[in-house]
Amino acid sequence: MVKPKTEEEIALLRENAIIVSKALAEVGKVVAPGVTTAKLSRVAEDFIRDNGAIPSFLGFEGFPAAICASVNDVVVHGFPSDYVLKDGDIVSVDLGTLYKGYNGDSAYTFPVGEVDAKTRTLLDVTKASLYKGIEAAVAGARTGDIGYAVQSYVESFGFSVVRELEGHGIGREMHEVPGVPNFGRRGKGTHLVDGMAICIEPMVNAGGRGVYLDRNGWAVHTSDKCNAAHYELTVVVRKGHAEQLSTFDFIEKDPKINF
Ligand code: MG
Ligand code: MG
Repeated sequence: MVKPKTEEEIALLRENAIIVSKALAEVGKVVAPGVTTAKLSRVAEDFIRDNGAIPSFLGFEGFPAAICASVNDVVVHGFPSDYVLKDGDIVSVDLGTLYKGYNGDSAYTFPVGEVDAKTRTLLDVTKASLYKGIEAAVAGARTGDIGYAVQSYVESFGFSVVRELEGHGIGREMHEVPGVPNFGRRGKGTHLVDGMAICIEPMVNAGGRGVYLDRNGWAVHTSDKCNAAHYELTVVVRKGHAEQLSTFDFIEKDPKINF
C-alpha cells in the first residue's frame, strides 16, 4: 500500500524540487564545448550547498559525485570526470537534494553546442514523453497508464524505452514505492491516489532498447552505442491533473542558456 503524502510533506518536497530545478539551470549555464563534466558537478554541488541543502547523490550507495553526468551513449549514472564536452555531444544531468528531511530529484539532457537533427528529435521526444506521462498521473489511474503514455509516444518516433530502470515515489527516501516504469499497459500497475509524490523519468534510446552496465558498476550504456536521453520531474498525483513540483522553466526561460 503506497501512502499519499500530507500537504506538509508536499510543501517540503516542493522546496526541494525548486532547489533541484534551479541547480539544473545553474548547470545548464555552464554546459558548453570545452567544459568537463566534473565542472558541472562542482557547479551543482556549490549551488545545492549554498541553498542549505545536501547533494543527496554524493555517497548514495557509494556514488562518488553530486550529479550523474551521462554523455551520449550513457543512459544514466555516469560519473562526472575530466571528460571534456565537445560540440555535438549531449549530457544528461541528474541530481538530487536532501533538505529538511525530504528529497528532490530531477534530470535534464543538455545539448552541447550544435547537435545533429536526429539527436535534437531524441531530446524533444523524450521530454515530450515525460509530459505525456505527467498527463496520465492522475488520481484513479495506475502506474501502467503512465508507462503506456510514455512508451507509446516514444515508440511512435522509432525510439525505444529503457526497461531496466524506472521512476519512483519520493519523500523521506529518494526512492520510495511505487516503481514507475516507462512502459506498460493501461489499467495495470499500482493505483494512483491523490497526494502521492512520484518522479517520472523516461530514459529513451535513439536505437534499440538494449543496455549494459559499465565495468564500474554504475554507468548504463546503450548496447548499440546510440545516444540516449533522460528527463525527470517530480509531481504530485491529484484529481484531474498532476501538480508539477519541479520544473524546467529555470532552464528554458533563462536567456543566458542558449538552446
Ligand atoms: Mg534522478
Ligand atoms: Mg529519480
